[in-house]
Amino acid sequence: MRRVQIYDTLTRETRLFVPITPPKVGLFVCGLTPYAEAHVGHAKVAVVFDVVARALSRWGYRVFYLQNVTNLDDRLIERGGATSTDPLKLADQHFGAWRQAMDRLNVRSVNYYPHATDYIPEILVQVGQLVDRGFAYAANGSVYYDVGRFPAYGRLSGQRVEALQPGARVAVEAGKRSPEDFVLWKASKPGEPTWESPWGPGRPGWHIEDTAITVRLHGPRYDLHGGGMDLKFPHHEAEIAQAEAATGEAPLVNYWMHVGLVTMKGEKMSKSLGNVYGLDEALGVHGPEVLRFYYLNAHYRSPLDFVPGKSLEEAGEAYERLAGPARRIAAAVRSAGSAAEGGELPEAVTAASETAVGELDELLADDFNTREAIARLFVWSRSVAEWLPGLSKLSPSALATLEAPYRWAAEMLGLFGVSGEPDARDEALARLVAASIEARAAARGRGDYAEADRIRTELGRAGVQLEDHGTETGWHLVGPSDRP
Ligand SMILES: [Zn+2]
Repeated sequence: MRRVQIYDTLTRETRLFVPITPPKVGLFVCGLTPYAEAHVGHAKVAVVFDVVARALSRWGYRVFYLQNVTNLDDRLIERGGATSTDPLKLADQHFGAWRQAMDRLNVRSVNYYPHATDYIPEILVQVGQLVDRGFAYAANGSVYYDVGRFPAYGRLSGQRVEALQPGARVAVEAGKRSPEDFVLWKASKPGEPTWESPWGPGRPGWHIEDTAITVRLHGPRYDLHGGGMDLKFPHHEAEIAQAEAATGEAPLVNYWMHVGLVTMKGEKMSKSLGNVYGLDEALGVHGPEVLRFYYLNAHYRSPLDFVPGKSLEEAGEAYERLAGPARRIAAAVRSAGSAAEGGELPEAVTAASETAVGELDELLADDFNTREAIARLFVWSRSVAEWLPGLSKLSPSALATLEAPYRWAAEMLGLFGVSGEPDARDEALARLVAASIEARAAARGRGDYAEADRIRTELGRAGVQLEDHGTETGWHLVGPSDRP
């Protein structure tokens, strides 16, 4: 297992990552409240922790990654009421769309998406423990956490009372002893989804679902908790207060990782502020690789200001400078097949490739610095430029040398669409395209340009776009909107 450093928000320092029971790593990330279409702000957290989980797994850790789904809350009930839809069904619909977007974005590392309402028994047990231990009190059919009983509340965020946050709405709830107390169990109103409880019919508060889920699935203490920077307070403070008081064990989490928000003109991208750019639109217009690249070409803790019509366009241009060479080398690898013939590279290039891969791992192991890793990939891309015109003359091992840093980025960062071993369909496609490229070259050779164009157009209709580079022809797959 590689040595990994992680910046921990709670201790405010970068520390060596030591799991409780190596090589196992318990990872929990606050997931979506799927009450509306997801936007590009939501997907940043998902992509960042996909990289964290991928990297840890490839370095020998065994990661169990949970991302919860808040499939019931005030906004879902409100939105459901406005559209005459069962809020739980509404959540299912939006979560289904989210999973599709995650598949497109190549986010594959989440092991399980626990849904809040599947953990009502665990939630009731935890609320009961907090009442029994004197950390919570019932009032008017609801149950509140008595924040005054938990002195460490506020340690993570440096903040205690929500009302002090500029612009925060002060929730006036009858029965609350102190404004900083938060709800664990909410008495339900008529028509809302409801469960029986010792305090009367109701539904869970937002914070309690996370700790009911993690105590059940990760145990009272676990390794790594992630989420957006905006969740530090009150959400993550509440999680610590709930779990540590209910189980009597501390700390709940050994490393807290918080991701900088996607903003527009400096303000958090959020549905309620009306400044959102839809995830599906971003995927449709720019493609998943460019979106992943956009998120990862910045430090995960930095805020990312999104400018419509600019940010993803610029990311696309920069991405192409890496992806172009990566594609051409990958195509050369495919057409070389198992032929062992071809030229070798100077020893210095092979050594430089190994050094580059080593450096990439080191950069990522330093608090998942994807930004520096991508900067290193640009250096590599500049150095391979001189080999690109003669790729077809290189041996498979020489091509593998040129490809190694890109392959690293494919596996660790999920870029370039190259992942692991090609499957049989990929191989069949590669052979068919190679045969078509040969037929096209032959047609050109005998001056039959109409036939050559016909082959290019037919491939284009199937989503295979040819790229001519001198005497070499590469190809890549394009989406329906880019087909002739
Ligand atoms: Zn959460």
